[in-house]
Amino acid sequence: MPLNFSFSAEDERVRAEVREFLREELTDDLVAASRRCSGMFVDRRIARAWQEKLHARGWGAVAWPVAYGGTGWSPAQLFIFREECARAGAPSVLNQGTNLLAPALFAYGSEAQKASYLPAMLSGEHYWCQGYSEPGSGSDLASLQTRAVRDGDDYIVNGTKIWTTHAQYADHIFCLVRTGTEGRPQQGISFLLIGMQTPGIRVEPIITLAGDHEVNQVFLDNVRVPVGNRVGPENQGWTVAKHLLEYERGSGGVAAGRKVALDELKQVAMQAPAGPAGRAPLADDPAFAARLCTLEIRFQALEFIEWSTLARLVAGQHPGSGASSQFKIASVDVQQMIETLRLEVAGHYGIPNHAGISLNEHEGARVGPADAELAGAGYLTGRAASIYGGSHQVQRNIIAKAVLGL
Ligand SMILES: Cc1cc2nc3c(=O)[nH]c(=O)nc-3n(C[C@H](O)[C@H](O)[C@H](O)COP(=O)(O)OP(=O)(O)OC[C@H]3O[C@@H](n4cnc5c(N)ncnc54)[C@H](O)[C@@H]3O)c2cc1C
Repeated sequence: MPLNFSFSAEDERVRAEVREFLREELTDDLVAASRRCSGMFVDRRIARAWQEKLHARGWGAVAWPVAYGGTGWSPAQLFIFREECARAGAPSVLNQGTNLLAPALFAYGSEAQKASYLPAMLSGEHYWCQGYSEPGSGSDLASLQTRAVRDGDDYIVNGTKIWTTHAQYADHIFCLVRTGTEGRPQQGISFLLIGMQTPGIRVEPIITLAGDHEVNQVFLDNVRVPVGNRVGPENQGWTVAKHLLEYERGSGGVAAGRKVALDELKQVAMQAPAGPAGRAPLADDPAFAARLCTLEIRFQALEFIEWSTLARLVAGQHPGSGASSQFKIASVDVQQMIETLRLEVAGHYGIPNHAGISLNEHEGARVGPADAELAGAGYLTGRAASIYGGSHQVQRNIIAKAVLGL
């Protein structure tokens, strides 16, 4: 399909509508919470407040099929929505329900599961986390050991999940569990939906290098889960899991945010830092400018990949395993390049500071580049992006197999 990066009059009408919505609904406290967030995602209270506003406007999950409450927007209109939200400083919300679980339910969920779970994730009432990884089972996910044993109409689940993002806020978790030991490890896995309030679930925090509490270890001790909460047939959860991973890695929706971050980086690099140091703008340094140019080119490639991905999704196709791995690498590379240059612009003012000493103040006045204090934490948080959702090495293995046929 030929790609057209220009915007039509109808696209511009959507932009005006989105801007008007943001003017009315994106309050100062939401923007402030979003800017203060040094981790990947805002906390549950802010996420819910924003999701409720989006839902009330009919934009709770803009990329869903219209039949389930999506907008029917074109790739250009989806891009515009995300660009305007990012530019206005809308919260970055963890959407493991709407973005990851929902496409799996569209394809493999029962009618009862769709009726029960989709409206609640759309409205923001339910907040989901992802129970895939275990200690010792990350890249080699199919080796997972959390057991689910049948007991009448229930499973009894025992085991532990790790790196579970926002498990401390989530009221539901989708989990891969072992229900069989015959054949290849992939053949004995089932996909379960579990309420986090079920007796036997315990959540322990893991604090990241950036000082944030975003990930956790979840312990499941004799947790009783109705068989009706299984998505797809018993022992065939690997198929559901892989489908979901395609959306986790490659359903797009990031390029607009990267564009805004890149624009902000350029702006800050072109200014002389405030304060007594009197340093010249970093954009004047030819070596830095050359790296900025490389980043621009990589960004344009990402934009191209994203628009072609969105065009496929809008046409009702799914991302595809090789294409989603390519997308993940491209999007994370751009993110990490932006964060590396952002930290370079910030210099030592960007060093994360857990001791309460501000390097950004000198005799009561602000010094250093704008928002420098967030650059260090942003850089450290961004390093995790080439690990979560499957490491870069694992994505390259998938590309070698699925795209190159090696
Ligand atoms: C911030 C963050 C948030 C996360 N959130 C979640 C979440 O919400 N839910 C969830 O289930 N998981 C989550 N994860 C876990 C994530 O999916 C795993 O960390 C990831 O899959 C890697 O697994 P691992 O940590 O066990 O590393 P390992 O699998 O032990 O890998 C260690 C190193 O070996 C390399 N390696 C492993 N196998 C191969 C191979 N075959 N070929 C080449 N190189 C290889 C890897 O690339 C990596 O560099 C999160 C992780 C992070 C860092």
